Amino acid sequence: MFTATKGKALLTTTTGALPRPHWYTENLRGIPLSQGFSRLAYREQHFDCLACHVAAQHRAGIDIFVDGDARLDDDVAGRSWVSYVTERVEGIGAPRVEVPPAGFMADKGPGDLMWEVIETRMTPPVTARIGKTTLQLDRAYKAIAPMTDRPVKLGSISAQILALMLIDEHYKNRLDLLMDLSAALNKEYHALADAGAPIVQIEEPAIHQIVADPKQAIRPERWVEAFNVEVKGLRDKCEVWCHTCWGSPAAQRVASKEQSYKAALPYFDQLDVDVITVEGAYNRGMDLEHFGAMIGKDKKIALGVISHRTLQIEQPAEIAELIRRALKHIEPERLILASDCGFGRQSMSRMHAFYKMVALTRGANIVRKELGLEEAYIPATDPQLSMVPLLS
Ligand SMILES: [Zn+2]
Repeated sequence: MFTATKGKALLTTTTGALPRPHWYTENLRGIPLSQGFSRLAYREQHFDCLACHVAAQHRAGIDIFVDGDARLDDDVAGRSWVSYVTERVEGIGAPRVEVPPAGFMADKGPGDLMWEVIETRMTPPVTARIGKTTLQLDRAYKAIAPMTDRPVKLGSISAQILALMLIDEHYKNRLDLLMDLSAALNKEYHALADAGAPIVQIEEPAIHQIVADPKQAIRPERWVEAFNVEVKGLRDKCEVWCHTCWGSPAAQRVASKEQSYKAALPYFDQLDVDVITVEGAYNRGMDLEHFGAMIGKDKKIALGVISHRTLQIEQPAEIAELIRRALKHIEPERLILASDCGFGRQSMSRMHAFYKMVALTRGANIVRKELGLEEAYIPATDPQLSMVPLLS
C-alpha cells in the first residue's frame, strides 16, 4: 500500500548505496549486525556514517531518505551487496575463488573492468536446504529511523539475483532453490515492515536480465511467481518497491550493449509491488513511452534522472527536461524521481554523490514550479548560508 508517496507528486529519492566515508574502516565480516552493534568501534562508525548520510540527504532536500547500505562491508565493487545475505543464510556454504561469469557477460575477459569484478565475486555454493536467515534488516532500520523525520527506504538483494549467482550443489533444480530463498527472505522483509519501515525495496527481479535469453531454463512466468512469493503479504503493511537496473558493480553496466526494458514490462506489471524503479538517466529516457503504456495505473514509476555511472554532475535544466519528457507518458502523482541505481560505496566520491542529489532536487523544483507544486527547500542552495559572497 502507498505510505510515503501516497497522494504526492514528483518526490525525490536515491536507490540505496551511498559512498562510504574513508574513516569508516570497521566491517562485520560475517557476524550478525547485532554483534557489530555491540562492538564499540563498529557501533560508533556505523551510526556516525548513518548520521553523515542523513545530513547529506537533508542538505540536498531529498524527500525519501536511504541508509546508504551502511551495514555492507567494504568489499570490492559492491560484493557485499551479495555476501551480506549469503553469509547469513543457512544452507549456503563458504565462498570460492573461482566463479564462472554469468551468460550475459560471456564477451568479457581479462582486460575488462567487469572481469576483475567477476574475479573478486567469490560466490558461494548452496550445500543444503535453505534454512534460517539472520539479515536483521529491522535493526538496520531502527538504527537510522530515529535520526530523521523523513521516511527511510531500506533495500536488500533479492532471492532472484541470488538464485542466478549461487552455485547449486543441493537442489535438483534451480526453481526449487529460488522458491525456498524467496520464502526465507519474505520473513526478513516482514520483520522490517513490522519494525515500522514505511518502504521495503527488493533489489531486484531477474526478469529484465533473463527475458531475452532462450537458454534460460526458468521462464519469466516462474520468476514472476517467485517474486510474488518473496513479497507476499508485504503490501498490507508497507509500501513495496522493486528496484531494477542494468548493473552497478564498479559503476558499470554489466552487459556491453544498451538494453531496453520493453520485453520485461508485461512481467513487471504482474509483480505484487507499489513502485517499480527504472533507469532513465544513463539511457536518456529510451523506454519512457513503454513505461507509460505497459505499466498499470496501480503502480508508480521511480525514474532514474541522475546517473550512478558518470562523475559529471547533471545540470538541473537537463534533469527538468527529462522529467518533462517522462510526464508526457506518466502522471505526476505516479512519477517519483530517483537515481538509476545506488552510487556505490566506492564508485564515486561523497562530494559527487552529494551534488548529484542536490541537482536532482534542483531539477525537480524547476518542474514542480511549472506545475504549481510546492518546491523543496534545499539548504545547500540557500544564499544566506553561502560561505562566500554570491556573484551578482
Ligand atoms: Zn541497481
